[in-house]
Amino acid sequence: MKKGKIIILSAPSGTGKSTIISRLMEMPELKLGFSISATSRAPRGAEQHGREYFFLSPEEFSCRVDAGEFVEWEEVYAGTCYGTLRSEVTRVTDSGNNLIMDIDVKGALNVKRQYGDEALAIFILPPSVEELERRLRARNTDSEDSLRRRIDKAETELSYADKFDCRVVNDNLDDAVAETAALVRKFAAI
Ligand code: 5GP
Repeated sequence: MKKGKIIILSAPSGTGKSTIISRLMEMPELKLGFSISATSRAPRGAEQHGREYFFLSPEEFSCRVDAGEFVEWEEVYAGTCYGTLRSEVTRVTDSGNNLIMDIDVKGALNVKRQYGDEALAIFILPPSVEELERRLRARNTDSEDSLRRRIDKAETELSYADKFDCRVVNDNLDDAVAETAALVRKFAAI
């Protein structure tokens, strides 16, 4: 069976990346399988272990890093690590499905370096930093402190956008979904 390709989606948080991914997953012709990342942070809201993330203790996370179980991992926020398990990549691509990854900017470029032409790195841009801040506040899941950190981080992340294979501006959600789906179709030759 032909192995699936890797689609990496990265964006500052609040850009609508998770919504875009959910919409893409509803398109059966794209044959997408989601890579469930591991994180050392605690679940938020209704998040479940093995669905949004594999929630690991900081000790277990670092054991698995030492055991070489991660394709990539980053300390995305101070003291909080996120990583892609090798087992998740092979689980999806060996079944012939295309793997879609939602990872931070550095992790994305790291995976792109490792997989080269087998991977497509897409950066989702907010219409502006002001709009991003408005969306994050509306989401209302963060303390003021953590919100500030996300916004500062977003500004740094935006400076990496031109290192990606392509960029999509999420001004209108339907348009952004259509544009991203078209990029996936072309890349995976669907
Ligand atoms: P959140 O805590 O809001 O769910 O995610 C925070 C950030 O972690 C997001 O920017 C997301 O892209 C990033 N992230 C999630 N999973 C991974 C991963 O497996 N590797 C890396 N490098 N970043 C990840």
